[in-house]
Amino acid sequence: DDIEECDVTDTTTRVTFPEEMFEIQNLGDRDGIRRRGTIREISRTPKQAPPKDDTLFSVKDDERFSVFEKGRDYEPVYITHQYTEQEIDTLNTYESCDYLPSHSHIYKHWIKRQLISKLETDRWIMMGLIGVAVGFIGFLLHQLIERIGDLKWQTTKSFLKEEKLWQGWLFCTGYSVVFAVFSAAIIVLWRPSAGGSGMAEVTGFLNGTQVRRIFNVKTMAAKFLSCVAAIGCGMPIGPEGPMVHLGAIVGAGFSQTSSSTLKIKLPFFERFRNPEDRRNFISAGVAAGVAAAFGAPVGGLLFCMEEVSSFWSRTLMWQVFFCCIIATSTSDIFNSTFERFQVIGMFGEFRTSRYILFNVDEAVDINVLMFIPSVMIGVIGGLLGSLLRKKILTSIQSAIVVKILRLLEPALIMLIMSSFAVFLPMAFKCIPFTCIRGNSGILSQYCVNDTTNKYDSHYVEENIFHTCETGSSHQNGSTLVYNGTYNELALLLFVSKEEAMKNLYLRNSHKMFGYGPLFVSLGVYFFMVIWAAGTSVAAGILVPMLLIGALYGRIVGLVMVDMFGVYMDDSYWSWMDPGAFALIGSASFFGGVSRLAPATTVIMMELTNDLKVLLPVMTAVMVAKWVGDYFTHPFFHAQLELKCIPFLDRQPHVTIHKRNVKLELFSAEDIMAFPVITMNRVERVTSIAHILLDYQHNGFPVLHKNAEGKKVFYGMITRSELLVILKHPDVLHRGRVDPMDDKNLEIAPIAYNTILKGLKLSEEEISEYLHEFISNNSEYKDYYVDLTPYVNQSAMSVPTKFSLHRSYTLISALGLRHLTVVDSSNQVQGIITRKDLMGFHMVETLSALINTKDY
Ligand code: ATP
Repeated sequence: DDIEECDVTDTTTRVTFPEEMFEIQNLGDRDGIRRRGTIREISRTPKQAPPKDDTLFSVKDDERFSVFEKGRDYEPVYITHQYTEQEIDTLNTYESCDYLPSHSHIYKHWIKRQLISKLETDRWIMMGLIGVAVGFIGFLLHQLIERIGDLKWQTTKSFLKEEKLWQGWLFCTGYSVVFAVFSAAIIVLWRPSAGGSGMAEVTGFLNGTQVRRIFNVKTMAAKFLSCVAAIGCGMPIGPEGPMVHLGAIVGAGFSQTSSSTLKIKLPFFERFRNPEDRRNFISAGVAAGVAAAFGAPVGGLLFCMEEVSSFWSRTLMWQVFFCCIIATSTSDIFNSTFERFQVIGMFGEFRTSRYILFNVDEAVDINVLMFIPSVMIGVIGGLLGSLLRKKILTSIQSAIVVKILRLLEPALIMLIMSSFAVFLPMAFKCIPFTCIRGNSGILSQYCVNDTTNKYDSHYVEENIFHTCETGSSHQNGSTLVYNGTYNELALLLFVSKEEAMKNLYLRNSHKMFGYGPLFVSLGVYFFMVIWAAGTSVAAGILVPMLLIGALYGRIVGLVMVDMFGVYMDDSYWSWMDPGAFALIGSASFFGGVSRLAPATTVIMMELTNDLKVLLPVMTAVMVAKWVGDYFTHPFFHAQLELKCIPFLDRQPHVTIHKRNVKLELFSAEDIMAFPVITMNRVERVTSIAHILLDYQHNGFPVLHKNAEGKKVFYGMITRSELLVILKHPDVLHRGRVDPMDDKNLEIAPIAYNTILKGLKLSEEEISEYLHEFISNNSEYKDYYVDLTPYVNQSAMSVPTKFSLHRSYTLISALGLRHLTVVDSSNQVQGIITRKDLMGFHMVETLSALINTKDY
């Protein structure tokens, strides 16, 4: 009754007037412009400055929603992520699923027949198989990306060496554009569900949301090809997101040993064909994907645990750990043996340079003073991470819809990137350097930056850019002297992202890069990553994040070196190494965007093999997380909201009146839906058909009569189970029957697997066949069905006064889809679904209560 509908602006469609506050929903508006004004005014012009009035309100920032209390100008009453009505419709198109299989008689019958060995050997074998498959995919991905990238840079370089600048640019651009368009075409024209990183979809699925078509063989092929083409040609994106998705698809496909696309169903591992095992194997695939992409087995495990998987147990951790070992070993063995598909080593040889992605050779000793800049880098990471998160989300939101433009967008990005790579370095002078090489010994090579006349041990001995002169060497006694030049920006832009990062992480190379090239590449990568993330290719942003972080980390390092004038020849100050700060910068940015702490730290250690900087890295990651959390919530969660995928956090966060709502003060009855549509244990066929046609609910409590003749809660049955049951004529009985007892349950006519598969019919076909049951001359008028064998008898129920907080914990920890609310005599009073507990839903329901009760 409090709600009044009125047109406030063309983007604002509803204004609510509870007694104490104004609530403005800025529906459909995502531009984040701060608007203030009185309600009267905003109806005319939203951007007008407000007159002094006690009815001020404002709609601000990317949350798109805020409420200001009457008389308390500008003070938000509550801010939470608010979905527009259109987005809520999208949210509702997703259905949830139970994590555990329905505990029905037919399930128990099925499980009785499954052979389970003491050590669960089959489970470990399956984990190993998934590891091998994901590791091999990681190897293929890596090699193909290297091969495509190498051909691009080598050919362009040879054109430039011959001073054929325009031909070089043309080749570099044309080659990249072809791959970029190919990559986008696969997604736009063939398989849109393979676009983006796929992380949000997989995370949502593992949280309990059905996301269709994500675990499909065609999606897998599309994702692989699109990712290889886009990253190979040098788009500023990374392979880890797609590897998460590819790993998940392998986990889903292998564990079920069946594929509807390929029309195969193997008679092995049948006992894993249930929702719980399927999800566990998908989690293993996800972890193996990260492990294979980065060569980081522990990092993969932690990443999955911290970010992607919602259900986790110690046993699952060990199994996933094993899967990660196998995946990383597989990809490492192959990657160490082959380089661009050519054999470079003995099979089985783990070469450091190949299997540690950004191997750091000369780690520096750290010093307690190093924590000060690490905290600073952490703050920058948190701030820039929040900014990048916001910009990338806006970029994804405003993604182009016209197909042809979606194909051309990556091409334009590559045109700009290639032009930058070829022409921008020409604006920078070549830096001369001299290297002196001894015949043997540990310090066999010294290089001097000729400008600063300081010793740095790393310069590039190769004439890497056409504007630089070819180097020359001459013998001086027992030493070889090499004089060369290099171009700083070319070392960052005219190479693959991986090469650029290796260059940035180089130790004892204080003045290798000046401010100009570092700032220019920071700007280029920052904006290009934001742009590329919103395009229609299969891509993640993790590797570009590391690169951006490395760039600002190195800038901080350089500032310090300049400020304090220290250099590598002073052992006390050896920690002040821009290369080490580049590594800390990468970790801080990764932490600032993703807000993952242990996973980020471990991945960084495994990626670089530099354990010495562990503590500064941990400090920077933690600070970045705190700073980032103060401003926004993590990128991966925001992506879920953006895609409107229903997701339940591990802990509920409901903020009203600027304070976290104490859910312990509310009870289940405060949020439950009622009256509840229920079924009887033995139900009339026509009633079931009526209910299924009239109500779209996905679960129905089943009732039976207790000794006192009262109808009490017996279990749950889902819509899809009822649809399958009605399709089987042999379960329909003419005339009322008694519910089955334990003896004849063994011969339940429908098998567990049939029920689990569901009906593959469209909504229209379902409605048509349901109408058959209730048509006027229906032969089913006095037919009954006994639901007993199919009812989930372990469906949870809670009393009306059960704490709302604990209800949330129950649903999220056990992966429930429905929670029935009963009174003291076990009679059904209400029902709560997983979606009812989403933040925005609870704010809506509870804010009304907050005004009426004393909470
Ligand atoms: P999902 O689609 O994932 O199952 P949902 O919340 O959209 O989640 P619905 O079954 O469509 O599920 O329920 C919509 C609303 O109706 C929810 O608020 C829920 O509490 C309520 N509801 C669900 N089942 C029943 C029922 N059997 N009787 C009455 N209300 C129900």
